[in-house]
Amino acid sequence: MKKLANKVAIVTGASKGIGAGIAKSLAAEGASVVVNYASSSQDADKVVADITSAGGKAIAVKGDVSKTTDINNLFAETEKAFGKADVVINNAGVYQMGTIETVTEEEFHRQFNINVLGLLFTSQAAVKHFEGKGGSIINIGSAVTRITPPGSAIYTATKGSVDVITEVLSKELGPKNIRVNAINPGMIETEGTHTAGFIGSDFHSQMVATTPLGRIGQPDDIAQVAVFLASDDSKWLTGEKLLASGGVR
Ligand code: NAP
Repeated sequence: MKKLANKVAIVTGASKGIGAGIAKSLAAEGASVVVNYASSSQDADKVVADITSAGGKAIAVKGDVSKTTDINNLFAETEKAFGKADVVINNAGVYQMGTIETVTEEEFHRQFNINVLGLLFTSQAAVKHFEGKGGSIINIGSAVTRITPPGSAIYTATKGSVDVITEVLSKELGPKNIRVNAINPGMIETEGTHTAGFIGSDFHSQMVATTPLGRIGQPDDIAQVAVFLASDDSKWLTGEKLLASGGVR
């Protein structure tokens, strides 16, 4: 029997990168998967097509995680298609590096609204769906909270928030049989890191040089950890932040 048979999973920001990799791996383990995205409907449809052509079940649902109406719609569409969610992956996130001189109110709120407020709204909706049966929330944080790279104050602050929210909610929701864990990836090759210019940059070379396993990660490196945290294999883990970085810290 597959590890996630009969489970329903929502992955936010799953049209690309790490989220797309997680959606495919959860589906390969038998979960019915909801592929959330903000604007890239073609990319989301491609992820759904990849899953269904491999024999899995998936739908795509558009929605901005920082908007409660969109989140309510995401969970309503999930219930309509597959029933109530059992696993929610808070993956949707944005990053923009910049030194202290470049910090603006607008950029602060953009990153905090998606990376932190969006995660809170999605978790709030997840708790309602999990009521009476429990569930697993998996937050995608970042190794930046360990590495604290210069020029990343806003982004690293958002992921520091993810670290502590993971611990707080694990205590708050444990009595409801809801586990809350985080995966904190090191640098991963995704559409986002290509667009940001990280791939092929000096930062990339520096990461490879300082990573004990000698390379940056791929979405599948994170997806396998997500399968573990979604499944009963991790039934005794909550409040954990798993550093998934090839050893860089
Ligand atoms: P990516 O390639 O840029 O993909 C981002 C995904 O998030 C896309 O599916 C995008 O949807 C979606 N998204 C953006 N804003 C959204 C919103 N408001 N509501 C819903 N979905 C939204 O990103 P990635 O590199 O895979 O990163 C994914 C997560 O991993 C982020 O939380 C990031 O902070 C974290 N992370 C990444 C790395 C890395 O090196 N890549 C390392 C550590 C942590 P559209 O395509 O529709 O815009």
